[in-house]
Amino acid sequence: MNKTDITLKSVYLARKRIAPVIRKTPLIPFPDQKQENPVYLKLENLQETGSFKLRGAANALLGLPPDRKEKGVLAFSTGNHGRAVAWMAGRMGISCTICLSRRVPSYRVKVMEQFGAKVVQEGVSQDQAYEVALKLERDQGLTLIKPFDDPKIISGQGTMGLEILEEIPQIDTLVVPVSGGGLAAGVARVLKAADPAIRVIGVSMEVAPAMYHSIKAGKPVEIEEKDSLADALLGGIGLDNQYTYPMVERYLDRIDLVSENEIEEGMIFAHDTLGILIEGAAAVTLAWLLKNPDAGKSVVGILSGGNVDTDLLFDILSRHKK
Ligand SMILES: *Cc1c(COP(=O)(O)O)cnc(C)c1O
Repeated sequence: MNKTDITLKSVYLARKRIAPVIRKTPLIPFPDQKQENPVYLKLENLQETGSFKLRGAANALLGLPPDRKEKGVLAFSTGNHGRAVAWMAGRMGISCTICLSRRVPSYRVKVMEQFGAKVVQEGVSQDQAYEVALKLERDQGLTLIKPFDDPKIISGQGTMGLEILEEIPQIDTLVVPVSGGGLAAGVARVLKAADPAIRVIGVSMEVAPAMYHSIKAGKPVEIEEKDSLADALLGGIGLDNQYTYPMVERYLDRIDLVSENEIEEGMIFAHDTLGILIEGAAAVTLAWLLKNPDAGKSVVGILSGGNVDTDLLFDILSRHKK
């Protein structure tokens, strides 16, 4: 990895670039807690497009040279990244194609089409959708906007780290969902630059944690695709991973896993106690916090997105009431 690619400077540059489109999301105190060891939640479910993914996508698109903007962009994504790229491309008047596997639920597809993107659904896995994207990149000269393993994406996600530090400079522990690791790498890069003693704990779901197994193996590995309530955390990290794997290895203290039951409890807690809608990928943070009530002296947990399938959520909530 080229160590000069993701720096505090690149994160500040990203912040300046994306400021006109990004919401500074609220940091709220965890309810009913003792004053000595406060826990805060960063509500990225309230970000424009419903997840933090817009930070990286906006930074990548705004940074494209004019001839690339002219030809158009391409993304493959299980949802939130595609949604963010589609929204930003629509806003900038750039043509946008999104490649998805057939497993992606139709409510996610519709949103991207509403933003003006062309959606191509092929294959049953994210890897197969990726193959289709590579072909379009070759044949049509479109620019592929990667979901996580890219300096502009990581720097964009890192802007959330600046917001956290400015509001909670006393932070000693960060809890962050991990899939491809763009979010965790960017935010951890910023926090560790501020103080290497700040602990950064990644959280993934037990059923298919690609980054967790890769770190254990000492190199990027493939894992079997499974279903999870945290659907935005599914997918591999790429065997040719260049940036997020080495950064997660260097800047995260560890990755912990939570079960599907615990994720469900996190979603119920968000609705019943916090009064907010979050998706499973964000609920892994709450699941971890509920299991580890005394994690640090000043803890911040990232609720990364709110694009939940409402049928699924109502199902969970009504089962819980019985
Ligand atoms: C993409 C995503 C994540 C994981 O981010 P990575 O950068 O891939 O680790 C977490 N939560 C939500 C809601 C997401 O959309």
